[in-house]
Amino acid sequence: MSSTIYLDGKPVKVREELPLVSLREKVVFPSSWESFSINRDKSKLALDASTTTNGLVVFVCQKNPQTVNPNSNDMYDVGTIARIRRFWKVNGDYNLTVEGLSRVFIKEYTQSEPYFVVRAEDIPELASAHDEETEALVANITAQMNHYREVGGHLSLESSIAIFSAEDPNQLCNAITAGVDFKPFDKQQILEMVDTRARLQKVSELLAHEIRVLEIGQKIANQTQERVKRVTKEAILREQMSAIKKELGEDGEGDEVNNDIAVLKKQVKAAKMPPDVQTKVDKEIKRLSKMPTMSPEVSYIRTYIDTLLELPWSIKTETKVNVSEAEKILDDEHYGLNKAKERVLEFLAVQKLAGKLKGPILCFAGPPGVGKTSIGKSIAKALGRKFVKVSLGGIRDEAEIRGHRRTYVGAMPGRIVQGIKQSGSSNPVFMLDEIDKIGQDFRGDPSAALLEALDPEQNSGFSDHYLEVPFDLSDVMFITTANVLDTIPHALRDRLEIIEFPGYTEMEKFNIANKYLIPKQVDGHGLKDGQFTLTDDGLEKVITYYTREAGVRNLEREISSVVRKVARKVAEDQGDAFTVNGETIPDYLGPEKFTPYLAEKENEVGMSTGLFWTESGGGILVIEVSVVPGKGQLTLTGHLGDVMKESCMAAISYVRSRAASLGLDEKFNQKVDIHVHVPSGAVPKDGPSAGAAITTALVSALTRIPTRKEVAMTGEVTLRGRVTEIGGLKEKVIGAHRAGITTVIVPKDNKKDLVEIPEQVKKDLTFHFVDHMDQVLPIVLTDKITAHPQKLGIRKKVQKEAKDSDFKIAVG
Ligand code: ADP
Repeated sequence: MSSTIYLDGKPVKVREELPLVSLREKVVFPSSWESFSINRDKSKLALDASTTTNGLVVFVCQKNPQTVNPNSNDMYDVGTIARIRRFWKVNGDYNLTVEGLSRVFIKEYTQSEPYFVVRAEDIPELASAHDEETEALVANITAQMNHYREVGGHLSLESSIAIFSAEDPNQLCNAITAGVDFKPFDKQQILEMVDTRARLQKVSELLAHEIRVLEIGQKIANQTQERVKRVTKEAILREQMSAIKKELGEDGEGDEVNNDIAVLKKQVKAAKMPPDVQTKVDKEIKRLSKMPTMSPEVSYIRTYIDTLLELPWSIKTETKVNVSEAEKILDDEHYGLNKAKERVLEFLAVQKLAGKLKGPILCFAGPPGVGKTSIGKSIAKALGRKFVKVSLGGIRDEAEIRGHRRTYVGAMPGRIVQGIKQSGSSNPVFMLDEIDKIGQDFRGDPSAALLEALDPEQNSGFSDHYLEVPFDLSDVMFITTANVLDTIPHALRDRLEIIEFPGYTEMEKFNIANKYLIPKQVDGHGLKDGQFTLTDDGLEKVITYYTREAGVRNLEREISSVVRKVARKVAEDQGDAFTVNGETIPDYLGPEKFTPYLAEKENEVGMSTGLFWTESGGGILVIEVSVVPGKGQLTLTGHLGDVMKESCMAAISYVRSRAASLGLDEKFNQKVDIHVHVPSGAVPKDGPSAGAAITTALVSALTRIPTRKEVAMTGEVTLRGRVTEIGGLKEKVIGAHRAGITTVIVPKDNKKDLVEIPEQVKKDLTFHFVDHMDQVLPIVLTDKITAHPQKLGIRKKVQKEAKDSDFKIAVG
């Protein structure tokens, strides 16, 4: 079918077939003029062929501009017939100006080589409705166009004329879409739309977006301009000021700068930097001297030079590895910790023989306040080196270790270089605290950078992004610390030599306080010997009723608090010497903060004592189970984790499987509601190791036989009642001992871990190694199971109901 179009105002029948040119990112619109150039051979041939079609060609946009050799499927179906109005060649490319005449639907590709020929059908523009809504839309778009020009939107002269002389809404849409820089996809959509109102709405939306972008751009441009104006104004004022000063004979600034540079140069000489660093600094100083004083870069360069100058490139403190002296210092400053001290001394002895401090990196592992930092300080003292501690807790960004590049605003060296700067020597004892708390995310892996710093093979040229020059870390003695070992990245852990610091027993705390903490605090508060006495019962009271921890950090704080109050009394002349004992302690520290775990406990029904451990040490955990007549509801309260909930279910399964031997009816579970509660909300409660304690409490509640209060247990329980291995035995047992437990039930598989437990603790405890719940119950229950009468209507013979149902969990 042929179509009719208007050429120079006269209707012309268009030949059925026309050559087609595909455009990459351009859509030609009816009644608009476009200029562009063509460089694909296929398109050029199509243009050549237009000589036989009155200069008429179909232009169509291709879907993906990247497609080099599009076929018919790569093009949109709607294009525009256009007439070539001007045409000239430059360097083989065809440049042309075309006039869009009519949009067409491409029905068929009749030829695809050497150029495309298509049969296209005219899509007439529908006569636009002249209703109120259309008029409103047109008025709105016209206003938008004015605004668009006001905010700096670009329009060619032809486009402006076409837009502002458009006679009907469709022409307006075409002219705007052709003239404004919309995306090709949007343009194509508008070309294809037939409903006038929809076209107007779409054009209005796109215009609104363009205007918004232009407004934001304008705002940014204004801000930049203002800043530039301000800086220029300041620079001019300074120039004027210096000219005035010169006139008045007060000119000194140039000299000042020169003086400054001269001072810097002197400092560089004194700093005894390695030659390559010196070259770098000299270069920066040269840059600085050439820069106008007002340039914002001056302060960046200055900070950089100062940082390099402040680094202790060649400052070393004497290193004398004398093992027996080191032993004396460690012993003088620390009570106990024999294993740790021994390992440290061995390490130092090996270092002495090997000449240089190379080899694995020490890692002190243990709960807070057990003396890790303090031992580190003593090592530094023994070696005559400086000590510096840098915390790595919460670091997720590699730049925290290795620094930010200087191109960043506010860039700084990383924590390693900062630590070195702080220590003022290039061979300090460098403690990297909490390496178990470093994270990892999209900003790089801090542990990789840390490895590079720690590795004796490559740390002689540690590169910090900020410094840009290598720093030699090979003389630094790194010591790391961690609360737990599992979270340390593997590659890092391989390099570490772990030295464990277990928690302290009450006795050890007592001795540490008496020998070290109290004298330290008395001295620190300016009191003289004899002015402050804390009696033994006073100290014991502080340990048991005011602190609950594996280390002695809070103990030290509490003691400090008592000493401070005494110091005040002395200062206020209320007396010259004070003795604080168990009775007067609350006057200083207020009411007791903790009650000892076992003091108020009786042997009770439905209670049992489990053991937990966290990174700050171990302790005991009370489990309460109550059983009331009901319908098989299981309620769990006390913020229990999922694993612990499963332990509760497993406990019920075990009890059901043992119902007969426990004297319970097989279907007891349908007759009762069970409530499991683990008090003390702050302790994290998850993990399978409370299985044995939960099962015990459940059996006790069902059989109404009380449990012994002095017995605590740990162990995972399987559905069949097997008790299996758990982790953290050492911390748990030390925690149990601290809490006054005398008997501990432990899985047989954990017997091997007993060697790690301090002798003093072992001495006070009775251990039972079990592999089945059947062995646990006789130890912990106060009475034989069969001998006890039962209540609650769950005795074997009382049961009548046959329906089986499982427990439904309700979590409180
Ligand atoms: P950590 O680094 O393990 O968290 P710290 O080294 O900071 O613990 O110890 C906390 C406080 O307890 C310090 O004042 C330290 O001197 C003291 N301290 C810890 N253990 C001992 C000990 N065995 N002997 C003497 N003082 C100790």
